[in-house]
Amino acid sequence: MNGDILNTSIEFLKGVGPNRAKLIKNELNISNFKELLFQFPYRYIDKTKYHKISEINSSGSEVQLIGSIKELREIGIGSKKRLVANFYDKTGNIQLVWFKTNKWLVDSIKLNKTYILFGKVNEFNGSKSIPHPELEIFNNDNIKKRTNLFGVYPSTENLNKKGVTNKVFSKLIEELLININKEIKENLPEYILNKYKLMGRRQALICIHKPRAISELKLAIERLKFEEIFYLQIRLIKKNITRKEKIKGYRFEKIGDKFDNFYKNQLKFNLTDAQKRVIKEIRNDLGSGAQMNRLLQGDVGSGKTIVAFMSALIAIGNGYQACIMTPTEILSYQHYNKFKNICKALNINIQVLTGSSKTSYKRELKEDLKSGKINLLVGTHALIYDSVDFENLGLAIIDEQHKFGVAQRSKLWHKNKFPPHVLIMTATPIPRTLAMSVYGDLDMSIIDELPPGRKHIKTFHQTNRDRLKLLDFLKNEINHGRQVYVVYPLIKESEKLDFKDLLDGYETFSRDFPMPDYHISIIHGKMNNEDKEYEMQRFIENKTQILVSTTVIEVGVDIPNATVMVIESAERFGLSQLHQLRGRVGRGKYQSYCFLITGVKKTKESQIRMDTMVQTNDGFIIAEKDLELRGPGNIMGTQQSGDMPFKITNLISDSKIILKIRKLVERIISKDPRLENENNLLIHKNLKMIIEKKDIWEYIS
Ligand code: ADP
Ligand code: MG
Repeated sequence: MNGDILNTSIEFLKGVGPNRAKLIKNELNISNFKELLFQFPYRYIDKTKYHKISEINSSGSEVQLIGSIKELREIGIGSKKRLVANFYDKTGNIQLVWFKTNKWLVDSIKLNKTYILFGKVNEFNGSKSIPHPELEIFNNDNIKKRTNLFGVYPSTENLNKKGVTNKVFSKLIEELLININKEIKENLPEYILNKYKLMGRRQALICIHKPRAISELKLAIERLKFEEIFYLQIRLIKKNITRKEKIKGYRFEKIGDKFDNFYKNQLKFNLTDAQKRVIKEIRNDLGSGAQMNRLLQGDVGSGKTIVAFMSALIAIGNGYQACIMTPTEILSYQHYNKFKNICKALNINIQVLTGSSKTSYKRELKEDLKSGKINLLVGTHALIYDSVDFENLGLAIIDEQHKFGVAQRSKLWHKNKFPPHVLIMTATPIPRTLAMSVYGDLDMSIIDELPPGRKHIKTFHQTNRDRLKLLDFLKNEINHGRQVYVVYPLIKESEKLDFKDLLDGYETFSRDFPMPDYHISIIHGKMNNEDKEYEMQRFIENKTQILVSTTVIEVGVDIPNATVMVIESAERFGLSQLHQLRGRVGRGKYQSYCFLITGVKKTKESQIRMDTMVQTNDGFIIAEKDLELRGPGNIMGTQQSGDMPFKITNLISDSKIILKIRKLVERIISKDPRLENENNLLIHKNLKMIIEKKDIWEYIS
């Protein structure tokens, strides 16, 4: 596509001008021809059907009427002033309303002329009206032009008020299409068009605005989705290849004696096949000479930590430092406590750094890091924020990545000679198509197998009425030596109330489980770190049988003797959070249970969440469901929907096409990595343009 005319400001489009251009820019963020071209209708209405006024029954329905206006008058004063009219056909009449009136509007409405009216019915206090209808003088010409697929464009109240109605917007698009028709160039090679029977690009872009039939519209949408997915995937895959070619990484020549020693003498269980496979993948990357950027996915409890640790051992065995970054202090200390003895035996200096580390300790730690005395550092964000310098950081591992933004990641290595290898571990599985579209430039490892002997966690959905039964059940478990988590939601906006719930809950449990037979721990975000650690430690050592807590234990906490997870106000948690919380149990040899406690009344969506949790333990299935319920923007946490890579493709309903095109792109790239074949020159050219000029595809980059 030739960039020039498409970069023209919409100001110069017939019917726009400077004022409207400014308005459209403000309201829709559209400023040039190409952005206007890619503003697609979000639905289509049938303009070949006409209604009778007597048949109008429901508020909110869209109607098209033929009739005339008899009376017209302004009522109200000041800001309440509005224009009302009565519209008649043979069967009755209905009121029309304009909430802003002016001379121009009054003059433009002709009494007793036949109009075609289009609008949405509003009902207020039992009487119906049509606010801001579209009016068009009836004549044979415009009757003929009416189609059954008339595009409705995204709009705003302000646009409508200032006269840029959908009808006006459609006219602008029509004008645009006439102007740029010849500028729309094909960007997919012929062999792909033929193989997938795709509509040509020009036809598709015209058709999506002005479709003549449903069948044609479908083909247009299919075609536009195809190029959108195609160029995103090809970019991601090329980016990965380029990174490997260009970004040198430390080459870890050997597996090293630390790893060997640990594997032979310290490892207490057999690795699962999936763990072995993943460690091999990581090992290959670390020895390749290119920088590793790998995403490790695995369900809760699948054993990602040991993979991380053994990867760190490879780095250390090759004379480099490694770090593991966690989203919470509890998790940092858990890793540290788990590994400190092993590290001692392996002659590895491991330290931990969090926001609440003592200043004097921090000072010494930073010196030891810089001089290379410390081999393995575990910590929270403090790791990136505090001016922490490594002597030679070879591997950075990020645990439970969904808590970290991309910007934070890159901070880790900006001071290094080479960027360290990076291993990102996700807390919960990411739906496949989402992973492919957002992390498609990373290499991916998946642990798709749980350690042997794990039992399905039995999950129950209960209301407060079932409390007595629940108490009996908990007593029985505790009397058999097991431990229990009770989790309360603590969500920022309503923190005070939630905090009270937590304390009330703690008191109730203390009454039902009195000392000296029972002991209860409590943990929440307002406690200082030492107290948290102390309480956690008591629970780990089974000195307390119940841990009442907020979601600070959401991720990572690993206490195999705990077998019951009680989630209070479960309707307030999202699916992936529920799955994470449930993942705190079922980590050992005992049968484990999860109780989701909700009120009796629930929204339909929270009912679906509870049902999903009860039905399945599989994090990959839950992730797909979560995506379906919440949409991609929310799943990615910090990212807004606007940052999602697609404009027309739907990550959920189009997942099959995404997978298909990803495979196609992988095939093309593996046969022709530089896109030099005659056949692929067009792809090469477009890709170059996309990357260099960030041209028509900003929304992808
Ligand atoms: P996650 O993937 O959720 O981070 P963890 O790494 O915390 O899971 O592992 C969960 C538990 O399973 C830990 O207690 C860990 O020691 C244990 N584990 C990990 N791998 C194996 C294995 N291959 N065999 C037996 N237990 C294992
Ligand atoms: Mg973990």
